[in-house]
Amino acid sequence: MSKRKLFFDMDGVLVDFQSGIDKLSDETKKEYEGRLDEVPGIFSLMDPMPGAIEAVHKLSEHYDVYILSTAPWKNPSAWSDKINWITKHFGGLFKKRVILTHCKDQCHGDFLIDDRPKNGACDFAGEWIEFGSFMYTGWDDVLCYLLDPEVYNGKSINHTLIDDVLVEQTIGMLDECSKILNDNYNGDNEDYKRITRMMALTNKWLKASGEEEEPAYYAD
Ligand SMILES: [Mg+2]
Repeated sequence: MSKRKLFFDMDGVLVDFQSGIDKLSDETKKEYEGRLDEVPGIFSLMDPMPGAIEAVHKLSEHYDVYILSTAPWKNPSAWSDKINWITKHFGGLFKKRVILTHCKDQCHGDFLIDDRPKNGACDFAGEWIEFGSFMYTGWDDVLCYLLDPEVYNGKSINHTLIDDVLVEQTIGMLDECSKILNDNYNGDNEDYKRITRMMALTNKWLKASGEEEEPAYYAD
């Protein structure tokens, strides 16, 4: 069976954007205030996100891996900096497997790991794994989901790990959000898509915690 296709975003997923900003002089920061991603060469200064390199190597054993990132339109050096960064940190792993675009929804695959809905990420045809969200707070969660989904989905969950207070707070928040969003339904609304995914996760928690009453579940 062929491997499933997995795309990695860069900034905020593989690359620690802030680490590049921290290396700029105060003068440069002031000159480019509000558009720091346009500083020439800034992308070459950035460090990897904690755990990212190891996670990518582990996932590459099980998935067909690609980079799917966006580079600022007004900073042409960012495009080449990104390729250099990828080669520096991953050697030949992503050779000729890099897609730089503002239209991520035009790429087809099974999973996209991305920290933002921008540039078509939320409309990606496969599954968008929102890195940094409460579903996938970091690489440990993502690795668990992609390499050991049964554990992630709670089939063998350790019930002492379920935080009842958090579940209750989440449900309260979802009730409030869905009420607001139902009054302003728009299928293209990014917030609505986020809430729908949060509802799906809440259902998983309810299932894992043994809830059998159907009305307790949210409509997916
Ligand atoms: Mg990003």
